Amino acid sequence: MNREKLISELKDHKDKKWDIVVIGGGATGLGIAVDAFTRGYDTLLLEQSDFAKATSSRSTKLVHGGVRYLAQGDILLVTEALHERGWMLKNAPHLTANQEFVIPVYTLWDVILYSVGLKFYDLLAGRLSLGRSYFIGKTKTIARLPLLKSEGLKGGIVYHDGQFDDSRMAVAMAHSCAANGSIVLNYFKVASLLKDENGAITGVKAVDMESGSEYSIMSNLVINATGVFADEIHRMDDPASKPTIKPSQGVHIVLDRSFLQSDSAIMIPKTDDGRVLFAIPWYGKVVAGTTDTPLDTITMEPKALDEEIDFILRTAGKYLTRKPSRTDVQCIYAGLRPLAANPDNPQSTKEVSRRHKITLSPSGLLSIVGGKWTSYRRMAEETIDRGIKAGMLPAARCRTKNFPFYHNATLLKDDRLKIYGDRAWEIEKMITGNPSSGKLLHPGLPYTKAEVIWICRNEMPGKLEDVLARRTRALLLDARASLEIAHGVAEIMAAELGHDGKWVEEQTADYKKLTENYL
Ligand SMILES: Cc1cc2nc3c(=O)[nH]c(=O)nc-3n(C[C@H](O)[C@H](O)[C@H](O)COP(=O)(O)OP(=O)(O)OC[C@H]3O[C@@H](n4cnc5c(N)ncnc54)[C@H](O)[C@@H]3O)c2cc1C
Repeated sequence: MNREKLISELKDHKDKKWDIVVIGGGATGLGIAVDAFTRGYDTLLLEQSDFAKATSSRSTKLVHGGVRYLAQGDILLVTEALHERGWMLKNAPHLTANQEFVIPVYTLWDVILYSVGLKFYDLLAGRLSLGRSYFIGKTKTIARLPLLKSEGLKGGIVYHDGQFDDSRMAVAMAHSCAANGSIVLNYFKVASLLKDENGAITGVKAVDMESGSEYSIMSNLVINATGVFADEIHRMDDPASKPTIKPSQGVHIVLDRSFLQSDSAIMIPKTDDGRVLFAIPWYGKVVAGTTDTPLDTITMEPKALDEEIDFILRTAGKYLTRKPSRTDVQCIYAGLRPLAANPDNPQSTKEVSRRHKITLSPSGLLSIVGGKWTSYRRMAEETIDRGIKAGMLPAARCRTKNFPFYHNATLLKDDRLKIYGDRAWEIEKMITGNPSSGKLLHPGLPYTKAEVIWICRNEMPGKLEDVLARRTRALLLDARASLEIAHGVAEIMAAELGHDGKWVEEQTADYKKLTENYL
């Protein structure tokens, strides 16, 4: 994936009418682009920042049906997501894993409730089940989770869900699009919509955020997949359009693995104030969260509130014998859920649904909001089907259920480099040729110079932040450690991408500022 090459392809096709232009390079937009190119449509995707910069890199990292939605009785939503979970684990085995969870139970009623509930969860997954759920007694629960408080504990319910690397999944999807003839561009903002004399949308006006160049791009169908920013695009279409998004902030903290000391994750289905809390092992750390705080402002870099961080620390401390404190936190990250609101009553949280919503405006803007990472494939299928149904695309069958993002199964058995996909061997080759490039950049982070070079050559990072936050997960794993390697990584990037010393200093300063939000 090479940005300059893709831009020059775009210029070569400046008079072309695309079948589909997708606005937004998060899970939803990239999922749509994958669905579109696999059906044979000429597809262009434009992302104003980096791929997955917004919500799609800030998830709980679960590929799940959603046990809590089961408790809310949304069986259809859970069944669909459980099936999607199965497809995602099959199609991206390098970026996903089958994760064992334990729900600690403290009353007989909870033993019955969660045992029955999770049996039903297993049943809904059908042949795409990741393993059956079962009850274990107190001793076995403590053996699995040695740091769980044992006072009053009756036992645990073991069940399985999926886990993944969200931003690397997004990059794998972008890569797949580019490798199959589509154009996917980061740092390319849609500034307005183009319309004909009848008011029908004919394309978009977009700006290359790096060069400032403007492009008028014609398309049969424009899809708005901009998550929490969807209403900005709706207003480009119709300045009087009503809000459709009700953002809700979710915060996670990252702790050292010593706070869990287990390969099993903990799920607390109902904390004191009725929320769900996860503590999940991830790349040798523990991700704990999340919160659900309704907000009015929508930004690219949401900031965790003190009360959200305190809630996670306090609740984790209630269940763990080693109580984490603020100084133990290695990273704090916040994301905005693009929940679909009721346009006639945007302030109402009652109507807020976890389900995605697809709408077609009178001028032909096809929008999708809401949903979740796990369901990206199905959401994409439904969106494109809607475009076909509206007569904006020629009919073609969806092909993504069995569309793999990884082909070389032998590499999967190997090591952590498998996360870079089929060409991970190139990193190994680089290290063999130059062993010093295989040295860790920081003792607390699992990344090497060779990986940074490979990322620059293959994964279109524009900024230092792209490498540290989303191509590697250094920022999330340990924000302070990532800051310590920031200047060195910027120098490696500058050498690869042809930037000067000024760029290195600017990027390092920008990154330092960014990390303030994560510490
Ligand atoms: C805290 C939290 C935890 C979650 N955990 C999970 C989980 O564990 N599992 C799960 O399945 N789901 C989870 N979700 C849900 C999931 O992360 C989201 O549903 C999903 O990432 C939304 O993706 P999206 O593409 O719709 O939005 P985004 O990722 O926000 O992408 C929209 C993109 O559009 C771009 N854009 C906006 N305007 C323009 C423009 N004018 N031109 C070009 N580009 C533009 C933005 O820059 C952005 O990158 C979680 C969500 C949150 C908030």
